[in-house]
Amino acid sequence: MDKNPTKQSAKIIVANATAKLSKLKNNQSPPTTEIKIETKRKLTSGEIKMCQLVFKDAIDYSKVWLHIGGFIHSATGNAMTPAGEIMLPRSEYLETPDFSQTIGENRHWFIHEMTHVWQYQMGTSVGWLGLKQLCKGGYTSNVQSADSGGELKAYDTDILGRDSGKKFNEFNFEQQGRLIEFWFDACYLQNVNPSRPHHIQSLKLLGYVERILRDFILNPHDKSLLPSS
Ligand SMILES: [Zn+2]
Repeated sequence: MDKNPTKQSAKIIVANATAKLSKLKNNQSPPTTEIKIETKRKLTSGEIKMCQLVFKDAIDYSKVWLHIGGFIHSATGNAMTPAGEIMLPRSEYLETPDFSQTIGENRHWFIHEMTHVWQYQMGTSVGWLGLKQLCKGGYTSNVQSADSGGELKAYDTDILGRDSGKKFNEFNFEQQGRLIEFWFDACYLQNVNPSRPHHIQSLKLLGYVERILRDFILNPHDKSLLPSS
């Protein structure tokens, strides 16, 4: 111990201050200016239940992440699901903590993206097919679609006309998403803003869509259902 009383009391003050500082460091919550935003999340239990209505257990839901997408997703407002994980526009990610509790448009749109997760987990190279669509102008050329009005070419279907004799695996990977979102909307969103044009159109097409999806509805594990384009 130091024999000089001034020095000794100075030492005690320093020791106390150090102890206080370390206590603050360990216990205090971070300053309010440090707001942490998670940039990815897992599916909620409500989202999993909603997906099980369509994909049953053909998706390993524990492997699915939802991310805040980069500049492209936020600037265009488009989601992308190239490798089993959904990249969402920033505002969509932040405003929708649970797609099973949101408006009808967001729910059928979410099921469309989950179709790409199903395709990917079953073995489809969704990223490669997306690139091919991009090169063919599928995401840049607008067409007048019989089933959904003004539409990007990749999603265009004509279920009552041109596509009436097609099997599910003959539709491209985006059209498959469209067919599944129509079926899901007609069957499960009757009580979620039912005056939506998408819902009314889904009801109109239901019988025809159900015929195309019959094998998928019975067994979503069937790999012969996967798209080749
Ligand atoms: Zn899609």
